[in-house]
Amino acid sequence: MDCFQTNDIDELTGLKSLTYFQNNARKWIRNRLLNGNRVTVFYVNICGFRSYNRMYGFQAGNALLRRLANVLKIEFDGALLARNMADHFIGAVTNEDVQERFEKIHENMHLLQHNTTLELITGLYEVKDASETDNPDSVSVFLDNAFAAMKFIYDKPGVNTYWFDERLKSEAELKNYVIEHVDEAVEKGWIKTYYQPCVNICTGKLLQYEALARWDDPAYGLLAPDKFIPYLENAYEVYKIDFAVLENACRDIQEIMKKKLDPVPISFNLSRTDFEAADVIDQIVEISDKYHVPRYLLHAEITESAMNGDTEIMKKAIKRLHEIGCEVWMDDFGSGYSSLNTLKDYPFDVIKMDMVFLRNFDKKSEDIISSMTQMNKKLGFKTLVEGVETKEQMKALKDIGCDIAQGYLFSKPLPLCHGDGSIDNICSL
Ligand code: C2E
Ligand code: CA
Ligand code: CA
Repeated sequence: MDCFQTNDIDELTGLKSLTYFQNNARKWIRNRLLNGNRVTVFYVNICGFRSYNRMYGFQAGNALLRRLANVLKIEFDGALLARNMADHFIGAVTNEDVQERFEKIHENMHLLQHNTTLELITGLYEVKDASETDNPDSVSVFLDNAFAAMKFIYDKPGVNTYWFDERLKSEAELKNYVIEHVDEAVEKGWIKTYYQPCVNICTGKLLQYEALARWDDPAYGLLAPDKFIPYLENAYEVYKIDFAVLENACRDIQEIMKKKLDPVPISFNLSRTDFEAADVIDQIVEISDKYHVPRYLLHAEITESAMNGDTEIMKKAIKRLHEIGCEVWMDDFGSGYSSLNTLKDYPFDVIKMDMVFLRNFDKKSEDIISSMTQMNKKLGFKTLVEGVETKEQMKALKDIGCDIAQGYLFSKPLPLCHGDGSIDNICSL
């Protein structure tokens, strides 16, 4: 008979705790595989649970979690089932028809809830061979894989279950590679800075460049930011990239100044996690001083989502950035949960409107950009619109009275040195 310590059990649902799962799943899975069973690890998340809690209260939320736990127990008799956290459930099961069973649960969601649009999404990972459990960390790997499969369908309405597949496998491999090699990439100069121009809409003249990261990897080739930034953000390590990009840019600006040319400012990206993981201000001061770059040439871009965290930290950071002489630009405004309060609370110099507004550019998007631009003006911010691809869009933005444009119409991001070795890219046009 099993003898459980209290922390082996999740009190709310009666399922096992995450700790128990982590300590015992490897042996459990190995034994089942050696006995000829098919073993699948799953990761279930209830989409919309937070709003459900808010709408119906915690008691109702807890009752829902207990109902789901019971459904899992009935459907997967004899399985190793646990609650990871909040509305995330995990498990190892031996059923051959695991996907069908989850689909049945999804179809019967009305049994779990009343009058809501809650959905379950489930990621599945099949452990094919007992040798996969040789690694002492194998349970974390299985859970990561099932989680990746769950996350893959997050933004795919109508898809409720997904198996971890080759594509997700190579993404997972890249993620591990990036996290393991970020220090080497910075040290060996694999992190490159590409520049994309921002143009004064009124005059059509170059105003500044945005510095954007590329990872030029000896094995994987040139990696775009979406192949490494999100993983490093999650690992709180993206500051390493951000400072490498800034350092490259400052080195480039110094080269231009040495040639007695006139550099234009550059903006560089900072992630929310930078402010938690590193001393951002000290780093900017150190890097800019090292290359004798005046700080009025440096504009820090901070995403709107960064403002959702600790407001005091961000307020202090923006104040300090201004004190050391950098402008502060808000990036991607309108892409997430925009809060107009953000505009009230933080003294930005420029608001960068996310390119979503230009994707299906119609009268409505024009009206939104127009209203935003008027409001920014009143608040003392300039408005930059990202993702400008056509002359028509440029004309509309000019008529609206936006200040700055950025997009493929002018140039995609490019490295500084062209084939002829010239460095005209970052000087005034
Ligand atoms: P972002 O900061 O919003 O940068 C703009 C992205 O939009 C760039 O993609 C750029 O190539 C792309 N873009 C520019 N104009 C157009 C256009 O007209 N049409 C379309 N479809 N796209 C356009 P990129 O360089 O791939 O960067 C993607 C994102 O990665 C950036 O979005 C930023 O969030 C992140 N990122 C890039 N470099 C860094 C970095 O050094 N640090 C941090 N923390 N994030 C970075
Ligand atoms: Ca940016
Ligand atoms: Ca942006």
